[in-house]
Amino acid sequence: MTPRPLADDRKAPGPMTHEPETWLALAGGVGAARFLRGLVRAVPPNEITALVNTGDDCSFYGVHVSPDCDIVTYTLAGMIDGERGWGLEGDTFQLVDALEQLGHQVWFRLGDRDYATCLHRTLRMAGGAGLAQVADELRQRFGVAVRIVPMSEDPCPTNVRLTDGRVLHFEEYLIREGSPDTVAGVDLSAAEAAKPAPGVLDAIAEARAILVCPSNPVVSVGPILAVPGVRDAIAAAGVPVVAVSPIVGGKPVKGPAAQLLRGVGCEVSALGVAEFYREWITGFVIDEQDADHAKAIEALGLDVRVVDTIMRDAEAAEGVARAVLELAG
Ligand code: GDP
Repeated sequence: MTPRPLADDRKAPGPMTHEPETWLALAGGVGAARFLRGLVRAVPPNEITALVNTGDDCSFYGVHVSPDCDIVTYTLAGMIDGERGWGLEGDTFQLVDALEQLGHQVWFRLGDRDYATCLHRTLRMAGGAGLAQVADELRQRFGVAVRIVPMSEDPCPTNVRLTDGRVLHFEEYLIREGSPDTVAGVDLSAAEAAKPAPGVLDAIAEARAILVCPSNPVVSVGPILAVPGVRDAIAAAGVPVVAVSPIVGGKPVKGPAAQLLRGVGCEVSALGVAEFYREWITGFVIDEQDADHAKAIEALGLDVRVVDTIMRDAEAAEGVARAVLELAG
């Protein structure tokens, strides 16, 4: 599958319109994309809006990289490199390899076609388009029916403070430094000072339920919640808010969630994540391996479902989505 050719600018989508009854999913990257791949099998994709973290966004090699928006778009388009969990399947890396030969540091690997996506974003933004408009154009050009809305159009870098005093952009922490277990705290001050992107507060207000993907609670869900107005809009919506635990059997399925949860003083367990979310969620889906936490999570006042949450394929992800929908129904 290839993306549809770029449309003439005059045909670019206008202001977004909203379905009256949508499922709003708070989304990071890989965990979110896997979950959404299941959700689209359970409800009509055009009734889903993904509200996506932009705290990982960063400029590399002259282009605006928006990792979580692109992972979600590529996954729902069926074009993700499933092995790596990011980038386009079959992509080549000639550009970063050539840059390395010219003496550049290329610890952030960006495939050639992936670079084209990011260059397109950069060019459109230089021409006056907003990040949200470009995210919407991209998902349409990749044939994705799920609406993809970045949390903010303002720069919202998530910074990680280490015990040695260094403050690193999340991508530096994750990729360049290899996610050390020396996190002293996470700085979301940029997100806390940002405006929600166009469409964000409306999407929350119009949601029939809010689903929290099994994403990193600290650096994927945390930044979305930190954007002014988002928490209040979720509370004001008065609809079920159901999360899936990204911690299974006491550890993350992948990624640095353990280091980051510990770094903000949170227990690395399904119960720890439930406590982290308890003020603003109503239901929590946990894995069978964590069934012994169900009572304690219910005691927090949350509805609980216990299912196999390992999303090894789309069918398994659909099972997780259906458990969430039951609690959200
Ligand atoms: P990132 O921004 O690419 O790291 O992606 P996310 O924040 O969306 O997702 C990372 C989280 O997804 C990690 O904490 C993983 O434990 C979780 N995750 C990934 N795959 C699965 C899965 O199959 N089941 C569950 N329950 N969690 C998953």
